Amino acid sequence: MIEKIKYYLKSFLFLELLKGLSVTGRYFFSKKITIQYPEERTPISPRFRGLHALRRYANGEERCIACKLCEAGCPALAITIESEERADGSRRTTRYDIDLFKCIYCGFCEEACPVDSIVETNIFEYHFENRGESIMTKEKLLEMGDKYEAQLAADRSVDAAYR
Ligand code: SF4
Ligand code: SF4
Repeated sequence: MIEKIKYYLKSFLFLELLKGLSVTGRYFFSKKITIQYPEERTPISPRFRGLHALRRYANGEERCIACKLCEAGCPALAITIESEERADGSRRTTRYDIDLFKCIYCGFCEEACPVDSIVETNIFEYHFENRGESIMTKEKLLEMGDKYEAQLAADRSVDAAYR
């Protein structure tokens, strides 16, 4: 009986509605946490895993030594590497492809690399317009590395223990 009275009281006094409106009112006047993307941006972690890049040393030599650890560790089988010996006796890749349609951006390639060569940038806004553009070739990866080296080096200098 008491339960029934409570139920009718709640219904007649719109208590549930007022309770809901109080939550709306509270958030209506509180500080907004939404942003106007793309004009406004949220900070990006130095560990963010976006589009890939291959880095070079300061003297311009490519870091990758074609050890294929990244290829072996890639759970999505997205990396394809071919290599050969150069005239100076060092081993370098002749082909380094990443299929972005297969990649799951897990970062295992980056973690496996002993020379910090393959890395993931903080770029997450990209699209493809033609068939085949989803393959990041060695040339494209090196170009990305050259273009964003300052950011990549800065990201790797923080959180050194984690890396
Ligand atoms: S991020 Fe992960 S899935 Fe993508 S290429 Fe690297 S290891 Fe493979
Ligand atoms: S990118 Fe790194 S892990 Fe992959 S083949 Fe080159 S040196 Fe080895």
